[in-house]
Amino acid sequence: MIAVPGFQGRRVAVFGLGRSGITAARALQAGGATPILWDDGVSGRMQAEAEGFAVEDLTTADWSAFAALVLSPGAPLTHPKPHWTVEKARAAGVPVIGDIELFARAIDTVPASLRPRVIAITGTNGKSTTTALIGWVLKQAGLKVAIGGNIGIGVLALSAPAEVEVYVVETSSYQLDLTTSFAPDVAILTNVSPDHLDRHGGMEGYVAAKRRLFQVMTPDKVALIGVDDDWGWGVVNALNDRRLRVSTITTRTPPEYLDPNGGMPVDQMADRLPDQIPAFDQGRFIIVDATGGRIVADGIAIADLKPARSLPGRHNAQNAAFAYAAARAVGVSHDAAVEGLMTFPGLAHRMETVGHLGPIRFVNDSKATNADAARQALSSYPSVFWIAGGVPKDGGIDDLADLFGRVTKAYLIGQSAEDFAVTLGTTPHVVCGTMEAAVAGAAADAQVAGGEQIVLLSPACASFDQYPDFEARGEAFRAAVLNQGATPLRS
Ligand code: ADP
Repeated sequence: MIAVPGFQGRRVAVFGLGRSGITAARALQAGGATPILWDDGVSGRMQAEAEGFAVEDLTTADWSAFAALVLSPGAPLTHPKPHWTVEKARAAGVPVIGDIELFARAIDTVPASLRPRVIAITGTNGKSTTTALIGWVLKQAGLKVAIGGNIGIGVLALSAPAEVEVYVVETSSYQLDLTTSFAPDVAILTNVSPDHLDRHGGMEGYVAAKRRLFQVMTPDKVALIGVDDDWGWGVVNALNDRRLRVSTITTRTPPEYLDPNGGMPVDQMADRLPDQIPAFDQGRFIIVDATGGRIVADGIAIADLKPARSLPGRHNAQNAAFAYAAARAVGVSHDAAVEGLMTFPGLAHRMETVGHLGPIRFVNDSKATNADAARQALSSYPSVFWIAGGVPKDGGIDDLADLFGRVTKAYLIGQSAEDFAVTLGTTPHVVCGTMEAAVAGAAADAQVAGGEQIVLLSPACASFDQYPDFEARGEAFRAAVLNQGATPLRS
């Protein structure tokens, strides 16, 4: 656990007693503060009391006595309207912060020579994969690594700074909204597309939250920014105006970009790796040659991803480029970084092959909770039996229309089924309702079609109408696949 300094002997309000709230309270207490906990729900309050924390009704508390409000990222800061604790804190002039900010302050107090480095990852899609991949690459390279934040363990529950060389932290836009001094050594923005707009009051607010990752950046830090979308370029331009060094990463590559020096076709570059490979502690133009499955930087081929165990598709090539650059930026050698990319075992629920039924492969991409994420999966295969649906995001699957030609047939589940049926139009589809019916239908049709086929769960929707979370949805898919007699496999 990480003890949070700076609040010794002071009362700090903690609202929202899920996992991160309770962890924040423990971390504050370990640093000598007196956390005062509250939640609208009784069960969180009971857990807090059972742990011996002071639980006080924050609706009637004396807010002038609080040094800060530590807000759960689940409670709205601004939209649709500020949470009542935020209004009370603002009225009393109390700063509103979150667990990432507490983490930042704890790290900042470690003497510079002993301070672990921090790599932080945000973006609409690819955060967890990139975080896990970086963690893996660094661990394989022999570094003492702690991985957490929005993925796995909450950031304040990670090992103390004395035991860690590099923290690899996934940060959501909600968490970033609650930071003021977070200054990671390597800050990564994977990509930006519309998501969670209701909580940020629109696209501008959402991007502003992402931009907070770079707000206190100094020239000794490294920014790695995905520029496949214009939002990413916007962030790059803002940082360039501040004269900060930024590496941009793109998978949208006109061929001339691949070899800015001219003359060297990209497929020959790997044979000509120079002794001096860029270290990524300076601004670089990194390109992912998606078709060739290669990472290219400043015209030099860095890595061929085709033999990698678990990095299929253009989007994973992008994630790999971030991971390579981040690893190099914290001192990992070129060879070790590439070796780590090759051996990454992959994450569950992200284009995870869960089983085979003869030549039919079942792929669990339950984590695709928006259309953009599902686009990556659909683009990775020439033809699929596609299971989709749930609680749709703005625009549903309208934006995926250009990929409908790859859909042999769609099997629609959840709340969005009827709407998606309309969007699919003449693309073959059937409303199945449940995961079990969808898997059974898709498996039967794939068998009739014969040969190598892909049955893909990539819902393009949130899961909350039928499951507690995307993991439960992915597990339901796995169970249904195994019920069809498939041979299990984790890839
Ligand atoms: P996050 O943590 O940001 O939600 P994940 O790594 O869990 O991201 O991946 C979520 C979904 O997005 C998966 O379905 C995956 O196929 C897709 N995805 C992964 N990396 C990228 C990327 N770089 N760009 C777009 N989509 C991606």
